[in-house]
Amino acid sequence: MRWDGQALDSVDDLALPGLAKMAGLVRSTQTPEFSGVTFHEIVCKSALSKVPVQSAMPFEWTINPTRGCLHQCTYCFARKTHEYLDLDSGRDFDTQIIVKTNIVEVLRRELARPSWKRQPVALGTNSDPYMRAEGRYKLMPGIIEALADSGTPFSILTKGPLLKRDLPLLAKAAESVDIGIGVSLAFADTRLQQQVEPGTPTPKARLDLIKAVADAGFNCNVMAMPILPWLTDGDEHLDRLFSQLAAAGASGVTVGALHLRPGAREWYLQWLGREYPQLVGKYRGLYNGGTYASKDYRQWLAGRVAKLKTRYALSGNAAHLRVRTAAPAAERPAPAAGPTTPETLPALQPTLF
Ligand code: SF4
Repeated sequence: MRWDGQALDSVDDLALPGLAKMAGLVRSTQTPEFSGVTFHEIVCKSALSKVPVQSAMPFEWTINPTRGCLHQCTYCFARKTHEYLDLDSGRDFDTQIIVKTNIVEVLRRELARPSWKRQPVALGTNSDPYMRAEGRYKLMPGIIEALADSGTPFSILTKGPLLKRDLPLLAKAAESVDIGIGVSLAFADTRLQQQVEPGTPTPKARLDLIKAVADAGFNCNVMAMPILPWLTDGDEHLDRLFSQLAAAGASGVTVGALHLRPGAREWYLQWLGREYPQLVGKYRGLYNGGTYASKDYRQWLAGRVAKLKTRYALSGNAAHLRVRTAAPAAERPAPAAGPTTPETLPALQPTLF
């Protein structure tokens, strides 16, 4: 693995922009609390990652305190990024977790640069910042404080109820910057959820998280993605999901069909072949070897979702991420680069899939 040759100044030319600079490996460690998991603790040289210009993502900057993800979603598109470390995009992505232990210190340095224009930053794009490992490393409080102190707006997308721990801190940060919080939940069926994303908290735990976020005064947009053809796209399942999201206090929901990008595609189809072999041929027809389900399918899904959004008053979208600004803009301390405006607010990352 490439760790062997890592030096503080090493650059992985094959890595994605923003993930290219990897600092030195400090140690690899295992702990009984995380059976089968190895944490590779590294000293990073950069914290803010620039999103490639050609990306369709509605944000320019991301922070990922970790790489790899204990949530183990079979459909996760970030899997492919593990291959740049000579790790595989399957089991290694789930169990070999890279932790940027000095990320707060590095982030503060980057945010203090005169060149930093306080563009919105998205957290939760390649790894879940509130997976269980955050309970061990406690990186997020420092990241939140650093962003807020610098006047940088940000959004967080997570499946992790651990975010509740930081709600008081987020509420305080929202006095000076705009913050968007999104929770990812696409399953009402717990049995299926545990098959497809075996490391994630249950739907109930995430509904409780949505409620806690709403109770703390934040809008909470839910990413109900991915919807899985023939598995979670039935009327009964979607209706149950929307009903539960509304009852939990979600402000809006964004829905999309499964994407099968390279990296995720192989892993998901392997899983499908094991658990639902009768569906493999149907998926091949629907995706036709590509990333997206057919246009007809997507239109069919969108039409049904639109009715459910109306029925459950869940028509909020990414704009609803402009949330909880305890102090009116005029009363907030003006950052050197000028106050944030609605146009610069962090759009929640539309998808990790
Ligand atoms: S989709 Fe998100 S939560 Fe799931 S494995 Fe990928 S990064 Fe983790």
